[in-house]
Amino acid sequence: MLGQVIELIEKHQRFAVTSHIRPDGDSLGSSLALCWILRGLNKEAEVIMCDHVPHAYSRLPGADEVRVSPDVDREYDAVFVIECSDVTRPGLPSLKDQFVVNIDHHSTTELFGDLNWIDSTAAAVGEMIYNLAKAIGAKITSEIASCVYAALLTDTGSFHFSNTTERTFKIASELVRHGAQPAKLSQAIFYNYPYSKVLLSGAVLSTLQRDESGRIAWITMTKEALEQSGANEDDSDGIINYPLTVGDVEAVAFFREMSNSTYRISLRSKNRVNVARVAESFGGGGHANAAGFTIKADYHRLTQEVIAKLKEAVAAAPAVNGREIKPR
Ligand code: 5GP
Ligand code: MN
Repeated sequence: MLGQVIELIEKHQRFAVTSHIRPDGDSLGSSLALCWILRGLNKEAEVIMCDHVPHAYSRLPGADEVRVSPDVDREYDAVFVIECSDVTRPGLPSLKDQFVVNIDHHSTTELFGDLNWIDSTAAAVGEMIYNLAKAIGAKITSEIASCVYAALLTDTGSFHFSNTTERTFKIASELVRHGAQPAKLSQAIFYNYPYSKVLLSGAVLSTLQRDESGRIAWITMTKEALEQSGANEDDSDGIINYPLTVGDVEAVAFFREMSNSTYRISLRSKNRVNVARVAESFGGGGHANAAGFTIKADYHRLTQEVIAKLKEAVAAAPAVNGREIKPR
């Protein structure tokens, strides 16, 4: 709970903040914002991650200070674990021996922390971090505002997803007042791709297929496509959104070949189609409209099983009444 988190911060001095492997906009933006808040309160704080900061987030304030480490190798009074479904997600084995504060907005998260602060109504963990900053009386600097804005921007799909509410815009407005620059942040995150990423997108989109109903689509990234484009794995992020731009498509699967018949699967959906349940059935998790999992499997069997589950999810989703967007 927030009150316990505040008490912990007030009583202690040395903190680390971490998040899941392959950090995204919310995990990085939230982690960096929390680190800035702690330092603003004259605490010792650092962000440690097992993976490097992806190019898209390299311009966030503090991104260059993220310490990449294969394990927790220093003593802390507490480690904040941002946006993780379980204690193994950060990829830091000794984390389990630390005093862990689990901060997440996924309803499916395990209560693995010594303290657990979960708010599934938050559009992004960034929103929770912003609430913490206000509640603890931190000065909202432009660094904090920019990092929280990046978290909100990316986890709402640039304010496209259904987690975008009046509250999201109210917070975004406050963040802009505190120095977040929307155009500059969008430019840094979405208009700063390496050429190889666009080449890779072309190769992956050429694998696009859909089922007979036209409501489910899937794409695949082979290791070969990755190598030929000269891209790295981070560059495959976001490609999944293209198939979802087709009007009739309600669910998309993106199969990424890793190594030794291991695949990383991302799932996205529109409307009331719940892909978190599909990801959970394969050992993963996420949100109703954005989820994922990693699995060792035969490609053909895997695609068939995933598509079958997506069909069930699409069939189970309550119909959206008409296509007209009615004012509320
Ligand atoms: P992405 O497709 O961008 O990798 O992930 C989308 C969402 O699914 C994120 O909210 C992420 O936390 C969740 N997710 C992706 N992979 C996994 C996984 O292996 N396990 C769990 N629990 N969640 C995942
Ligand atoms: Mn998030």
